[in-house]
Amino acid sequence: MNRLYVIGIGPGAYEKMTIEAAEALRGSDVIVGYTVYVDLVREHFPGKEFLTTPMTKEVERCELAFSEAAKGKTVAMICSGDAGVYGMTGLMCEIGLRYPQVELTLIGGVTAATGGAAVLGAPLIHDFAVISLSDLLTPWEKIEKRLLLAAEADFVICLYNPSSKKRKDYLKRACGLVLAHRGPETVCGYVKNIGRNGEESRVLSLGELQDAQVDMFTTVWIGNSQTKRVGGRMVTPRGYDL
Ligand code: SAH
Repeated sequence: MNRLYVIGIGPGAYEKMTIEAAEALRGSDVIVGYTVYVDLVREHFPGKEFLTTPMTKEVERCELAFSEAAKGKTVAMICSGDAGVYGMTGLMCEIGLRYPQVELTLIGGVTAATGGAAVLGAPLIHDFAVISLSDLLTPWEKIEKRLLLAAEADFVICLYNPSSKKRKDYLKRACGLVLAHRGPETVCGYVKNIGRNGEESRVLSLGELQDAQVDMFTTVWIGNSQTKRVGGRMVTPRGYDL
């Protein structure tokens, strides 16, 4: 029947996947994805054929999914979080034009911004901007401009890809830009391994965040001028009177 699903599996744990995503995976013959994500779901879907490609081989991974579906198999291409947020959905729609016989079905998921927000408290309760610090596909000048303007407009800022082996000081640089418009006491937070083994979170000031060591499995939240600590949590007020 040539069906191909693009599925956001949520931040990690099986329980954080939507029922729709789990059912589509159960109904698939083949599950395709980046090795780390395939390993996260493997034990919950026995009997499936699993195909993996390394991190930078995104186009090849998409082609692989389509060529398997073109053989008549039901295929699931998986991404972490929501596949439409720094994921494969866009590429799959474009490559799909070359495979009119394959029916593409897109299934959303819980993205790191909202999955991790629930770990920290309520950082995103008001307007927020999501910015990736990865300059692999986006020029750094554009990332800088977005950081500066989001900071100036007092958005809560959620940072994806805050660091990697080659980009060790990017979070520090990003904090430096935000500090042009926000004080060092601004309430921030980060969560590492949301919904996965080794989940770790911290609420800290922007000044402290500047020197924090985070890795590529971490998401960062920088509060707006109103964000505060409530108990041990990071909370952005909605504006209600108490
Ligand atoms: N499609 C994914 C995002 C992929 S970009 C989503 O919707 O969540 C990769 C970045 O997402 C990571 O560098 C990290 O900042 C964030 N991320 C994804 N999963 C995460 C998790 N389980 N814990 C912490 N951060 C995560």
